Amino acid sequence: GLASRLQNVFGKLRGKGKLTEDDVNEALREVRLALLEADVNFKVVKDFIAKIKERAIGQEVLKSFTPGMVVVDIVNKELTELMGGTQSKLAKANRPPTVVLMVGLQGAGKTTLTAKLAKLLQKQNHRPLLVACDIYRPAAIKQLEVLGEQIKAPVFTMGDQVNPVEIAKAGLQHAKDNGNDYVLVDTAGRLHIDEQLMDELKQINETLNPHEILLVVDAMTGQEAVNVADSFHKQLTITGVVLTKLDNDTRGGAALSVRAVTGCPIKFVGVGEKTDALEPFYPDRMASRILGMGDMLSLIEKAQSNIDADKAKEMERKMRNAEFTFEDFLDQMEQMKKLGPLDQLLEMIPGMNKMKGMGDLKVDDKQMGRVSAIIHSMTTEEKRKPEIINLKRRNRIAAGSGTTLQDVNRLIKQFEDMRKMMKQFSGMMGPGGPGGSKA
Ligand code: GDP
Ligand code: MG
Repeated sequence: GLASRLQNVFGKLRGKGKLTEDDVNEALREVRLALLEADVNFKVVKDFIAKIKERAIGQEVLKSFTPGMVVVDIVNKELTELMGGTQSKLAKANRPPTVVLMVGLQGAGKTTLTAKLAKLLQKQNHRPLLVACDIYRPAAIKQLEVLGEQIKAPVFTMGDQVNPVEIAKAGLQHAKDNGNDYVLVDTAGRLHIDEQLMDELKQINETLNPHEILLVVDAMTGQEAVNVADSFHKQLTITGVVLTKLDNDTRGGAALSVRAVTGCPIKFVGVGEKTDALEPFYPDRMASRILGMGDMLSLIEKAQSNIDADKAKEMERKMRNAEFTFEDFLDQMEQMKKLGPLDQLLEMIPGMNKMKGMGDLKVDDKQMGRVSAIIHSMTTEEKRKPEIINLKRRNRIAAGSGTTLQDVNRLIKQFEDMRKMMKQFSGMMGPGGPGGSKA
């Protein structure tokens, strides 16, 4: 993918002590190819490379102590800028309700987004109303109703025999009458942009005067997504873009070009089919992720919302006191699992992506399953006092967990290493923190 190609290019640059103009040119040539292959718009690539070149070939870079790092930093900043610079938040009306219109082609993910957005708003203590204005696609209304039921949000419908403009109008009134502070309007799409679709959307737009028109585009369609965005914007003046199916998009071209081509910010990205698979779009984090600098912020945020704070504290205490047992080990693994697939997690940690696949360090979900089986086959006493696990016990554990003696040996060795490390660590971190023990 794009990320790994760019990481290669910059890995080479970072390693160099001194850079010549040729080094930079060579690297930029590779960046250009990587971007084009990722289906980034040609003109966007051209402008982007020109900007980087202008900044990177400056004297101060070539003379810098760590020129490779400086170039990476420039690319990182320009990439961030390309995607809009800072995060663009959802509009909020001075006087509620805030009206948000979802528009886009068929299958882009409008109906799904309507529910995802409602769920996000509910978490912030808002009371969204979903309005079903797609009267054309069979079962579109039912789809929204089912989603609304799942997330326990009210859905306003008038069946498929009423004009969508009327439905939109009545929906807004319903929201006002019932104290809903957000009105999320799901509209119909077509396979291609056509006049009839645009006319209807324009009419709904005039009637509702929405605070936000979100264009929903399928990231997997690459440059086509950008073209769609461009023509919708020209006709409707959209206020934001939502890129869906980013979980399936391996190239990432749309994320990089949409803003540059349309001038409209990406506000959210869809990363799955479930109603909670929606993330605010952060240009800086995306840029860092693409450059393989690790997405620590996302990781920390994810960890904070998923890890039990009390458990984490208790774990930390045990580590300090080197009281860590196999039970804790298992517990910690379970917590890690909540964060998502390990591969994805490791990719977010700087430097880790390079370690993946390195023999013993390789961690995959299958291996986690094996580790879990081994620990579950231990008796409580064995979990708490691993030093009693002799060869006879090891054989029993291997048989019980459907693994081999080597598997069990390896795990126990890893565990012992970890404990040893913790002991050293707790010495360092002792009661007074780093360097605190006045020995
Ligand atoms: P609409 O025609 O624009 O209303 O599109 P839908 O909301 O009905 O979505 C079309 C299909 O795309 C459905 O199967 C959704 O589950 C799926 N979908 C929507 N958003 C995402 C996403 O972010 N990731 C993935 N993988 N699938 C999505
Ligand atoms: Mg739909």
